Amino acid sequence: MLYRSLGNTNLEVSAIGFGAAPLGDVFGAMTSAEASATVQHAVASGINFFDVSPYYGVTLAEERLGNALVGSRHQVLLATKCGRYGSSHFDFSAATVTRGLEDSLRRLKTDYVDFLQVHDVEFGPIEQIVHETLPALRHLQEAGKVRWIGVTGYWPGLLARILKQVPVDTVLNYCHSNLLMNDMDLELTPVAEQLGVALLNASPLHMGLLAGGSVAEWHPAPSPVRNAAAKIVSLCQTHGVRSATVALNHCLSHPAVATTLVGFRSVDQIDDALLALAEFHEPELMKEIRVIARPVMNSTWISGLAEN
Ligand code: NAD
Repeated sequence: MLYRSLGNTNLEVSAIGFGAAPLGDVFGAMTSAEASATVQHAVASGINFFDVSPYYGVTLAEERLGNALVGSRHQVLLATKCGRYGSSHFDFSAATVTRGLEDSLRRLKTDYVDFLQVHDVEFGPIEQIVHETLPALRHLQEAGKVRWIGVTGYWPGLLARILKQVPVDTVLNYCHSNLLMNDMDLELTPVAEQLGVALLNASPLHMGLLAGGSVAEWHPAPSPVRNAAAKIVSLCQTHGVRSATVALNHCLSHPAVATTLVGFRSVDQIDDALLALAEFHEPELMKEIRVIARPVMNSTWISGLAEN
């Protein structure tokens, strides 16, 4: 495993991070035994960063992760979130995020988390997140229940704006830096680097579109993006490589990203990600991928409140 520094935290984090959304069955049903085996294989492979949320599978992912980490909790960095709950209900008030953390700690079978992140800031009043939610997270840090705090969301420009207003330790952006997107680097990457905020890149497979399997029915990407992704998947097949390996290799080579969070559903997918860490020289293939991606590059979908 390759390890990188995590912003200003003095922590070393595995370049591949474990995204636990699939443990909530959001990409299809898993058994609890499969969930545990996947998590335990990740720990044995040197993955030391686990990202979850009470929102994933309406608490199922936190419960499964907590069960799977019994005995290895202290070997890993555990990150959960606050503000997004249930099937998609947002509440960024200090009282709710404080109570929400207690519930998360119980499910995760631990008395602290390494990271508590505000989940999907674009759905909140930004004033509230800056002046109420993040200060509440700092109180939780002072109380020893949280080691570091952060923000997550879809829009890189909005995250950059928040970073400039209030100190945080980590920033997680998803679906904005992969084979179909590169606009995380326009504003967010330089701001995070300048401030020493650890940059976490999530959804390297564009929430499964570049994985080569079936696509989740809730996936918000417009059809031109889906079509381009499908073309990339079959192009990789004709070159005798798996699109997931190519897509992960591309993300893992980003120099400013501390960890790339991959949503894992199986032991085999972890082994694939480890392979993707290796050197990969396919300049012709990458050129052809860029030609397919160019017309849809940086296509987005609606996410969050209109005023944000
Ligand atoms: P992803 O791009 O990592 O894709 C996950 C899908 O790819 C799953 O269906 C998985 O089965 C499949 N997959 C993974 N490895 C594969 C392989 N080698 N071969 C074939 N298929 C493979 O999407 P994601 O799960 O949305 O993102 C990763 C993690 O980032 C999440 O689990 C979550 O922890 C985090 N995340 C956070 C936010 C947020 O905070 N707002 C948003 C998105 C993602």
